[in-house]
Amino acid sequence: MFGKILIANRGEIAVRIIRACKEMGIETVSVFSEADKDALHVHMADESYCIGPAPVSESYLNMTSILTTAVETGAEAIHPGYGLLSENAKFAELCKACNIAFIGPEPEILRKMGDKDQARRTMKEAGIPVIAGSDAFDDAQEALEKAKEIGFPLLIKARSGGGGRGIRLVKSEDSFIDQFCTASSESLTAFGDGALYLEKYIYPARHVEVQILADKRGNTIALGERECSVQRKNQKLIEESPSPALTPENRISLWDTAVAAAKAVNYENAGTVEFLLDRDGNFYFMEMNTRLQVEHPVTEMVTGIDLVQWQIRIAAGMPLPFTQADINPKGHAIECRINAEDPYNNYRPSCGTISLLHVPGGPGVRFDSAIYQGYFIPPYYDSMIGKLIVYANTRSEAIRKMIAALSELVAEGIEHNGQLQLDILDDKRFKSGDYDTSFMAEFGR
Ligand code: ADP
Ligand code: ADP
Ligand code: MG
Repeated sequence: MFGKILIANRGEIAVRIIRACKEMGIETVSVFSEADKDALHVHMADESYCIGPAPVSESYLNMTSILTTAVETGAEAIHPGYGLLSENAKFAELCKACNIAFIGPEPEILRKMGDKDQARRTMKEAGIPVIAGSDAFDDAQEALEKAKEIGFPLLIKARSGGGGRGIRLVKSEDSFIDQFCTASSESLTAFGDGALYLEKYIYPARHVEVQILADKRGNTIALGERECSVQRKNQKLIEESPSPALTPENRISLWDTAVAAAKAVNYENAGTVEFLLDRDGNFYFMEMNTRLQVEHPVTEMVTGIDLVQWQIRIAAGMPLPFTQADINPKGHAIECRINAEDPYNNYRPSCGTISLLHVPGGPGVRFDSAIYQGYFIPPYYDSMIGKLIVYANTRSEAIRKMIAALSELVAEGIEHNGQLQLDILDDKRFKSGDYDTSFMAEFGR
């Protein structure tokens, strides 16, 4: 096992990883930007080093600074968390060159799945159902010909997109060329790649994803699914497991398909296969996230398996001691993302000092965050400041528990979306479990 791990991330996920290391008796090195010198991950790690100024391009994405710190501190592995460098094949390669284990898949897999258009092709060849669509285009006119074949409405998607960005709905042929050109230049600015591909717009649809763990010996296991259809601008707000949309037969078939998808690329470590489920129960591969997911705690709650600890063990060469037959998720878990923003004021991001903080507790209540009373939320990073997760025997009990926990949460001095989350949980349609990705728009938010 590794003796020391560097965590190349910030916020709640850096804290989550440090906690896993502590439980495993592994020393931790944290890195931080000048804006994060008072951040929780800096205080919690055994050693902490400043790696640059506030902008992520000069700190958390600064590969040279991070790798130099790892080498100088004698870290044997780097955990990249999610976002930032977690899906960066070049970074994974550089780790290898420095003889440091990258806690995640091989660079080749990151490259293959990070290109969403290539991932589609790979899955199609492996016999996994994909959404009707196209390969990537640079040219709008060529794309239009293909668009007419697919039919409208359709989505234009950035080949290198992520985090819900780089997706555009085109309702008719007339606006296609304009939208394609705008999307392409936006994508070039955001992701350094202007190539776009097309997908038929599935409506109504639910986002259901499957958590995978795969060791270096090819043992590939599905740890259940997560329902993530409560989204705003293609960004998840609430996630739950199990999905209320699946029949027992559908569920088995979905897990099997996800395992086949992972096996098709010799996947290793933790990963998530995202699917869209249509009204008739058909599901289609959307993308694979080759990293730990924000919403991984809901899977941990229903399976009792610590995903971060297993990521570390797999990277260290340990085989999985359980098989698919051992995976029998129990109960129901829900996660609400707590964002520092004002949903009732056009989602304006909020930063500032948390003057008063009370975190809910009690049986089956978990709060993953990096905030504390007196903490100043810097304006440079993601607005997600915490995740409230609850676990209960049934879905309705979990909803009641989440309402109780959210009502208890106090974070003064900043705006956050706790009230919006309460309003969603109280919604009839959400309560029924019969909702899809249009939920937030129909909810008026
Ligand atoms: P999850 O699917 O795990 O919920 P999200 O899509 O919410 O993940 O993304 C997790 C984090 O990573 C967010 O902070 C998001 O902004 C960021 N992120 C995801 N993909 C990219 C990308 N391709 N480029 C930059 N940031 C990304
Ligand atoms: P990202 O890499 O940004 O996470 P995804 O390809 O996973 O992008 O799509 C993000 C979200 O956009 C999905 O969760 C879903 O709500 C919506 N979406 C993506 N593709 C389609 C589609 N073909 N039809 C309908 N909705 C889609
Ligand atoms: Mg996605």
